[in-house]
Amino acid sequence: MQQPSPPVSSAPAAAENAPRKRRPPRRVEVSRVQILSPAMRRITLTGAELQGFEVSDPASYLKLIFPEPGQSEPVRPLPDGPRATSMRTYTPLAVRPEALEVDVDFVLHGDGPASTWAAQAQAGQVLFLMGPGPGYKPDPQAAEHLLIGDDSALPAFETILARLPATARVRVLVEVPDAAEERALHSPAPLSARWVVRGADNQRAGQALEQALRQGGAPSAQSRVYLACEAAAMRRIRQLLTGELGLPRSQIVGRGYWKLGAVNHPDHDYGEDA
Ligand SMILES: Cc1cc2nc3c(=O)[nH]c(=O)nc-3n(C[C@H](O)[C@H](O)[C@H](O)COP(=O)(O)OP(=O)(O)OC[C@H]3O[C@@H](n4cnc5c(N)ncnc54)[C@H](O)[C@@H]3O)c2cc1C
Repeated sequence: MQQPSPPVSSAPAAAENAPRKRRPPRRVEVSRVQILSPAMRRITLTGAELQGFEVSDPASYLKLIFPEPGQSEPVRPLPDGPRATSMRTYTPLAVRPEALEVDVDFVLHGDGPASTWAAQAQAGQVLFLMGPGPGYKPDPQAAEHLLIGDDSALPAFETILARLPATARVRVLVEVPDAAEERALHSPAPLSARWVVRGADNQRAGQALEQALRQGGAPSAQSRVYLACEAAAMRRIRQLLTGELGLPRSQIVGRGYWKLGAVNHPDHDYGEDA
């Protein structure tokens, strides 16, 4: 007999609550830079220290340490030393263990050590990489998956889309600053994607997503939602989904990927307070 599908918890998994063991930093070099769109770069990182770097869940994360102003390359962090101030969180998009390579897609949003580094990245430049951290486990029994987020979540969405079975249905709703950021998305599951444009004003983050959800993009009662975007927008959209649109909290996983006006927003903002 088929077992009922377990609810997708919006709380972090137990493993995420355990004290985090810091993995040793790995020295990596840029091997390729690909321009995906005006504000998105795909950067391939490689190096002998990537031996053993494996990622099991989609939407996992890694930490990258960028050079501080005046440094040509970052200093290798000490095992129990202070956290580097120029460390930021990114999604391992594709990992090729046989080639010792990992691809990371960077939004060029303007400010910040990560975004400014990515805008000038060239082959041979050095970073330190830590992780991976845990990701998302899509419910294999769910009839419909809904991925809602902005350009910073596109890499996570691509890793989730690649894992969904052909028997599932998936809808993707993505907010980008400009229509030139739209691109083709692929999945074994039948996929419908809707792109909405925020415009240049980041203060409007999430507004186009909210509007699209209110205008007919609402999830069905059985949908499983992965929601990742600006932190305050994530909370508003979570409230919209659970309030007006009547979706149980247990079917939503929320992640604040960045926060307006905040430097290095933490990687574990689940919006549980909303
Ligand atoms: C689990 C997880 C996975 C992530 N994966 C990716 C990924 O694969 N690719 C990716 O591009 N980002 C990803 N992010 C988001 C990324 O960590 C943040 O955007 C980060 O703040 C970038 O660092 P920074 O040095 O460029 O800017 P910071 O120094 O952190 O911030 C400087 C300023 O830029 C603003 N800002 C930061 N990010 C954005 C943004 N995306 N759009 C507009 N304004 C912004 C801040 O509000 C702040 O005012 C992920 C975040 C998490 C938590």
